Amino acid sequence: MSRASFVLSLVAVLPASLSAQTPATGGGEWPPLKVVDVRWIDTTVSACTDFSQFANGAWLAHDTIPAAYSSSGVTRDMSDRNELVVRSVLEDAAARRGSFPPDSTPRKLGAFYASCMDSTAIEAAGVTPIRPWLRAIDSITTRTRLLPELARLQMLGVDVAFRYSPDVDPHDATHYLTWLSQGGLGLPDRDYYLAQGAQADSTRQAFVAHIAKMFRLAGQDSASAGPAAAQVMALETSLAQASLTRVERRDPAKTDHPMSIAQLTALAPRVGWPGYFRAIGLRAPVGKVNVAEPEFVRRVDSLLQATPLPTWRAYLRYHAIASAGPWLSTPFVQEGFAFRSRFTGARALLPRWKRCLREADGDLGEALGQAYVAKTFPPEARTRARAVIDDIRTAFRERLQHLTWMSESTRVQALDKLARMGEKVGYPDRWRDYSRLRVSEGPFVLNVAQANAFEWQRTVNRPGTPVDTTEWGITVPTVNAYYDPSKNEMVFPAGALMPQTFDPLADDGANYGSLGGSWAGHELTHGFDDEGRHYDAKGNLRDWWQPSDSTHFVEQAALVERQFNEYIQVDTFHVNGKLTEGENIADWGGLLVGYGALQSRLARNGRPGLIEGYTPEQRYFIGYAQSWRVHVRPEQLRTRVTVDPHAPEQWRVNGPISNIPAFALAFGCKQGDPMVRPKDKVPSIW
Ligand SMILES: [Zn+2]
Repeated sequence: MSRASFVLSLVAVLPASLSAQTPATGGGEWPPLKVVDVRWIDTTVSACTDFSQFANGAWLAHDTIPAAYSSSGVTRDMSDRNELVVRSVLEDAAARRGSFPPDSTPRKLGAFYASCMDSTAIEAAGVTPIRPWLRAIDSITTRTRLLPELARLQMLGVDVAFRYSPDVDPHDATHYLTWLSQGGLGLPDRDYYLAQGAQADSTRQAFVAHIAKMFRLAGQDSASAGPAAAQVMALETSLAQASLTRVERRDPAKTDHPMSIAQLTALAPRVGWPGYFRAIGLRAPVGKVNVAEPEFVRRVDSLLQATPLPTWRAYLRYHAIASAGPWLSTPFVQEGFAFRSRFTGARALLPRWKRCLREADGDLGEALGQAYVAKTFPPEARTRARAVIDDIRTAFRERLQHLTWMSESTRVQALDKLARMGEKVGYPDRWRDYSRLRVSEGPFVLNVAQANAFEWQRTVNRPGTPVDTTEWGITVPTVNAYYDPSKNEMVFPAGALMPQTFDPLADDGANYGSLGGSWAGHELTHGFDDEGRHYDAKGNLRDWWQPSDSTHFVEQAALVERQFNEYIQVDTFHVNGKLTEGENIADWGGLLVGYGALQSRLARNGRPGLIEGYTPEQRYFIGYAQSWRVHVRPEQLRTRVTVDPHAPEQWRVNGPISNIPAFALAFGCKQGDPMVRPKDKVPSIW
């Protein structure tokens, strides 16, 4: 398709929201987002010294993170705009819900949102809506009552003790399997329970104080709330000690423990697994399970016996209250927010409509998605995004064909994996059926519990059945994308395929840097990163690499790890090079592949002259860097050191770019410049 016809047909068919104008609906003006915005460039900084600062510095200098956010930048701007569209859908459904047939999905959407927005009823009710949950927990006076109650809470969406999930069988990716995994912690990661030092101590003290406060808000007397909170902390610390680290869980071999029910019973004899599986709603007996973390399940088993029942009751009570808290009256909401803000840095609550909208998106996302697509994402937009993704696939195929370190037999399998890699772009071909979801006019917290129960029933009996290849893991208005190694597919929702990520009206340099490099190229190469490479073309966990190729890959990946270990994340914390290794390899691979795709495109369509003073190659790297235009609060950066497999955005730009000779060429950087890493330190993978 030529550039001319591309542009001509576009103006006629695309709504304003796709062409960087104000959104189709919603309140007020929205500043246009451009894939490359030269106003964000800090021309006082040399591109060869600090490219992240060069590309985004002028924006960063004037940005203030709004009080209710832990970061600002691309994702927030795009989400804010998407949320205005979704808000109009929800408000319309809420206003007109009486006119929709009972049990119809629009009626459910409207009632769900309206019951969340009904702050008068929510304030008046206080903790009353979840009193029955708390009474049921109080009735655990014998060990035999413990597991059924634990199962009941899990089905309502409360994360306690461990996790049951029907997930893809790592050794037969066409079928689901029962998975049992670690979970049940109130702090964001097991490391928070085990870390040394004053800051870690203070976080743990704050957690205990927060638990006690939640108990008091729910009516417990002050004298017993404190000791009960300490018991919860002790129980969770024991769970944390038996949990794998995030780095360990990135290794698929470490979470691959298929076993029979007899073996599971030998591992954890006190649970009574057949009874548990019946309690959670499984209709058929379970033959095989994958126990992701056997030591953890063994620990739960021994705690079920050894931990006093009052401690278990306190633990379950805290998690029930904390899980419901965001949807109860203001004191619960504020206490939960105040505690979470230690980790996010947010200074104020999001407005109620945003909190309600995000919950509606999480629970009824595919009902909202249909309306969102109708308003913002015509089929032409999907076609155009697919064309860029196709170019990325071609460019990666060419790279694979010419890699000198890869043996022929590994190469054949890699090419096969690439050829079979699926892609989902824009929105699902089949939308979820919500006919079995029950939604009432309130209280809202019970609508959330019903939505969790609906999701549980929708999936609980999956083990042994064929994998649903049409299913999406994120909702359509989401500003994100993912690669799923078990399905060998990449997924790009419509909410992410708009400016600033992608604009059919923008130049190729900008689009191929952003959608091509930092989105599509990134997701595609995840199939071949330190984690994804362990899965084959069909999504099975199988080693298809020649030993010499594996050795080369591991050695080179270790260079990436070392490179990122050098960078400062925040304060004196360094980036965790091992935790972020897969993402860093994907960023770097994505940049290389996107660059190759741009070169092919320029060769086909001809080179444009300078655009706003920059060559296509320069705009490519600026487009990539501006796709990481993010400003993060220090509290959030500190949390991310522990929990986030992504490095800070500054290093997602400067790390991979400084490894790429084409960058130095595009900006005239020389050996010795900070943005040009010495050749002997540059890894060789893609
Ligand atoms: Zn990624």
